[in-house]
Amino acid sequence: MIPPIARRFVAGESVPEALDHARARNEEGIAVILNLLGEHYDDPAEARADADAYCRLLDDLADTDLDACISVKPSQIGLDVSADLFEEQYRELVAHAHEHGAFVWCDMEDADTTDATLDAFESIAADYPWSVGQCVQSNLKRTREDLERLIDVPGVIRLVKGAYDEPESIAYTDKADVDEAYRGDIEFLFEHRDRGVAVGSHDPEMVSLANRLAVEHGTDYEIQMLMGVREDAQRDLARGGVDVKQYAPYGDKWLSYFYRRVRERKENLTFALRAIVGR
Ligand code: FAD
Repeated sequence: MIPPIARRFVAGESVPEALDHARARNEEGIAVILNLLGEHYDDPAEARADADAYCRLLDDLADTDLDACISVKPSQIGLDVSADLFEEQYRELVAHAHEHGAFVWCDMEDADTTDATLDAFESIAADYPWSVGQCVQSNLKRTREDLERLIDVPGVIRLVKGAYDEPESIAYTDKADVDEAYRGDIEFLFEHRDRGVAVGSHDPEMVSLANRLAVEHGTDYEIQMLMGVREDAQRDLARGGVDVKQYAPYGDKWLSYFYRRVRERKENLTFALRAIVGR
């Protein structure tokens, strides 16, 4: 069972718990992106098992009226085995979602996977327009060129700062430089797209920038944040009429995800310690 301190960041171990979480967020006007925790499978059977679990989740979602979609990790559905297996299972999931009128997001992992992930996205979005979305990371120096390449692709782009430590040769490593690149990439997307822009950030400055640029350019956009992080802001934005989606992980592999959330910010560590000592 997931201990209460981890429940802040993880929707539960089971699909019914994940669906209950989605229902509660929907009641607050927030849509949900469900992610089955799991990554880096080098056994094709494990990658197949998670792809099947996502197919069943899409079926379960289709039986509800929930405003929810899914997000998968490339290495969870085959990229650590081969680019072909990844693309095959990614395509299968999007085709299945498309039948249900549902939507599939693909996370972005470390820089060694960027080419294979973007190639698959570009090809699948062409076959299933506006049924798929791809995460792109502004800390990578290549990203502006990638955005130029993707600008007319009929899929949604989730722009994030980037969560992976990458070498200085290919990535901005200083926070101020990452923020500057992120600002520039947000501006680029709002200037060049009239739909299909998702800003995945908790940073109040970036969220305000997106809100302002949407008014200026008339772009259809959404703000995405993680479960357990700035949830008051998520509710405020939704109440203000912004399209907000919350990324909510679930599943039995919750421990490493929880540690990652706790490690990345001092206030989350304080929250966890307070919960442990009961104050
Ligand atoms: P930061 O500069 O890190 O933070 C700005 C401010 O936001 C902070 O000062 C604080 O007020 C608040 N804040 C940020 N994080 C926290 C926190 N954990 N707890 C409390 N307050 C916080 N990265 C990838 O590499 N690949 C992905 O596929 C990917 N998908 C993502 C999907 C979503 C929906 C989101 C929101 C993020 C995703 N990320 C992904 C992570 C992303 O790259 C960043 O590492 C992460 O969002 C932190 O950056 P930030 O923009 O929130 O700003």
